[in-house]
Parts: sequence; structure tokens; C-alpha cells
Amino acid sequence: MQFIEALKLRSKLFFLFLLITIGLISTGIMGAMNINVMKKNLDSLYFGSLIPVSELNEILQTYHSDLQSAFLRAKYGEISPDLASFEVEKSLVKIKKLWKSYEGHYKREEELQYIEYLSLELNNTNNFFLKMLQVAKGKEDMSKISVLSLEKQISHIDKIIQKLIKYEIEVAQFERKTFLEKYDYVLIKVGMMLLLIIIAILLISYHVFRSIQKDHTKLEITTNKLIRANKKLENVSYIDALTSLNNRRYFNLVYERELKRAKRTHAYITFMMIDIDFFKQYNDTYGHIKGDEALKTVAQILKEILQRPSDFVFRLGGEEFGILLTDTDEANSVKLAHTLCEAVKARKIEHHNSKVNSFLTISIGLVCCIADDALNDDILISSADKMLYRAKEEGRDRCVSSADISEARAQALEEELSA
Ligand code: GH3
Ligand code: MG
Ligand code: MG
Repeated sequence: MQFIEALKLRSKLFFLFLLITIGLISTGIMGAMNINVMKKNLDSLYFGSLIPVSELNEILQTYHSDLQSAFLRAKYGEISPDLASFEVEKSLVKIKKLWKSYEGHYKREEELQYIEYLSLELNNTNNFFLKMLQVAKGKEDMSKISVLSLEKQISHIDKIIQKLIKYEIEVAQFERKTFLEKYDYVLIKVGMMLLLIIIAILLISYHVFRSIQKDHTKLEITTNKLIRANKKLENVSYIDALTSLNNRRYFNLVYERELKRAKRTHAYITFMMIDIDFFKQYNDTYGHIKGDEALKTVAQILKEILQRPSDFVFRLGGEEFGILLTDTDEANSVKLAHTLCEAVKARKIEHHNSKVNSFLTISIGLVCCIADDALNDDILISSADKMLYRAKEEGRDRCVSSADISEARAQALEEELSA
């Protein structure tokens, strides 16, 4: 059954279909062959025995009724000699015809001799009756017909024919018995064959379906693996490799979702743009590896402070981070921003070449407002960017915030109109 396993799903089904078709065809052929044999048996029984018996009986009947009665009625003057002669001849023609038909049927070897003998006897008997009629007619005295010799002759031929009838009936009975035995044998043979084919089909079907089931299970396992791998890949694609924070891709996704949610509930939404101060100098002073470590430390500090499920921290790129808060008003957001600035400074990451502090510092541009339908997707980001620029200009190591986004809105409207 290994070759079934090797077949592809479509080929497996095709193989099963082929098998069932072959099974049905072979059962059909075998059934037809056996029916044909039984038909031959029936033919032989019907035409070889039953019809011949009825013909022999009819011959007897003709002798007894038609022929004998014609003679007797002529003897007792009930019919004219001419009519008697006509009826006798008619009966003899009928007997001849019946006999010819009887002889035409299939004959067995062992009965041929007897039939030949009977044929001779029939001829003699018929000649005897013709002679009897002629003699009576010649003497013009029909009463001279001898009832005794008439009956003797009829009884003689009757005996011979009865013997043949007996033989034919015995043969018919024997053939019927053989036919019934053959019928039972054929029935058992076809039944067994059908049973064997059904068992074979069931066994092979079982293997085919088990193999299909195996394929299906394999497919399911592979699909699940693929789903898990995809999920992993998706997660990986949302995570920044250096800091393990969510990246800009994920920010785009969350930002849009959270903005929509805040708009629906008219809730506070805060966005902070964070940038490390004089980071280029940091890299230049301590090298890129140290720079990477500093980035990781800042990311860790941000993550440690922002732990609510509704707080989101992202590395937007380079040494820039983004923070998205919902349901936090401006005062609390600003407080949180100061905490972040202080926490980074408090970590005391040396930065000799910074112009604001001997340790690493950050600047934050913060925007906080109640979300409404007029809040354009880009307004928060561009406003936070502006605030960050101001924080840098005002001396760095600080947070500059705004709850007033009307300026940004007006600019966005202007841009929209000019477009
Ligand atoms: P400012 O205070 O105005 O922000 O000054 P700055 O030097 O931080 O500003 P600038 O944007 O000119 O410099 C950013 C620097 O950040 C440049 C680059 O060397 C550094 N940087 C960006 N991404 C990485 C990183 O993944 N690893 C390291 N080590 N440095 C990075
Ligand atoms: Mg920068
Ligand atoms: Mg910078």
C-alpha cells in the first residue's frame, strides 16, 4: 500500500474511482456471462423438452380424438365417407406437421434411434389408416370398419409415443434440477465475487482515506507552523532590533487606531516626540557601540516609566522616540515628560561634550488635546515636532508642550485648500 501513500491527493481519488469502476465492470461482465449460460439452459429446457412434450401430446390427441372419431362417425353413418376421408386426411397432415416440428428440435444422442423407430411406426400407422379408409370406401360400406383393429393400432402408437413422452418428461425434470443447481451455484459465485470486490474496494478505500487523512494532518500541521511563523515574522517586523521597542511601522498602526478611538470618545490624546541631545557628539566621543548602548538605556528608562496598557513607546528612528498616551490631560502629560527628562539625566550617562549637561539629556516636544473629528492625522505629529524644535532652541534638556493645536490646524487647512 506504499504506492498509495506516494500518490497525490487527486491521483488517490482517481485511483479509488478507477478501482470502483473496474469492480463494477467485472461484476457486470461476470453476471452477464452467467445469465447467458442460464438462458441457454432455459432454452434447452423449454424448446428441448417442454414444447416437444406438448407436440407429442397433441399427436396423441389427434389420433384419439380427430382420427378415431372420424372413423367411428363414418362407421355409424353420422358423416359421409367423403367427409370422413377429408377429416382423416386432415388429421394425418396435422400429425405429420407436428412430428416434423418435433423432429426439428434439439435431440440428444441417446434418443435418436428411438425417434427413428417412432418415425417408422408413425408412417406405418398412418399408412394403415389410409388403407383402412380406402378399403372401406372401395366396398362402399363404412360399417365394415373394424373398431378393434382401429383401437389396436391407436393403442400401439399410443404406447410408443407415451414412452417418448415419459422420456422427454424425465429429461425435462433432470434439466430443471440441473438448472436449479446451476442457478444456486451462479448465485453463490456472483455473490462471492461481489463480496470479494466489495471487500477489496473497502480495504483499498480505507488505505486511500487513511493516506488522505495523513496528508490532511500533515497539511494542518504545516499550516499551523506557517501561521505561527507568520505571526512571529509579523511581531518581529513591528519590533526594533536594537531597543526592543515597537518600531515606526507599529507606531503608524497604533497611532491611527488610538486616534480613531479617542475621536469616538472625545478623549485626551497626547503625543511626545523625544530626541537625545547632542547625540552626534556622543557617538563622536564614545563611539557607535557606546552610542547603541545609550540608546538601549534610554529606551529601557522610557519603558520602565510608561507601564500602563494605554501607554505606547516607540523608537521612531535614529535617536528619536515617540510616546502616545490616551486619557491623560496636559498637566499630567507634562508631568510625565519631566519625569522622563529627569530619569534619563539621573541615569548619569556621561556626555562630556554635551553643551547642556555632563550627562546624557533628552528634549521633548509634547502635544495634548481632546480628540475631535477635526483633528487631522498629521497635526499631532507635526505639532509635537514643532514643540521639539522649540525645546532644542530654548536650550535642550527640557519639555515644551502645547495644548493649542489651532495654529497647526490652520496650516493644515491652508495646505488642503492650496492643494
Ligand atoms: P540635537 O541635540 O540637535 O538633536 O543634536 P544631535 O547631534 O542629536 O542631532 P542629529 O540629528 O544631528 O544627530 C543624531 C545622531 O544620532 C546622528 C547619528 O550618529 C546618531 N544615531 C542615529 N541612529 C543611531 C544608532 O542607531 N546608533 C547610534 N550609535 N547612533 C545613532
Ligand atoms: Mg535627531
Ligand atoms: Mg538629537
